Amino acid sequence: MHEEQCSYWIWGSGDYRKIQCSKKPKVYRNGKWYCTIHDPEYIAAKQAKRDAARKAKRFLDDTKIRRLKAQDHYCANLSVEFMENNQSEAVE
Ligand SMILES: [Zn+2]
Repeated sequence: MHEEQCSYWIWGSGDYRKIQCSKKPKVYRNGKWYCTIHDPEYIAAKQAKRDAARKAKRFLDDTKIRRLKAQDHYCANLSVEFMENNQSEAVE
């Protein structure tokens, strides 16, 4: 049996009362009906996607920092002689 409303409660704007989502329920989870956007599994999936994106970005940032540090380290140990001998390569 369908209930009339989604079981999700939202904070009303302006006052401090919660109002129930007025959308028609579509999915049934843990004994309650929810509309598509308030489906706990949909929300969890969205959250997981966001977390994955954040992790990927952090990994890229880490890689960038590691590369810069490695370059720094490598260049700091180059002799002037080496730099002069490899200048043409570097300019290309
Ligand atoms: Zn809803």
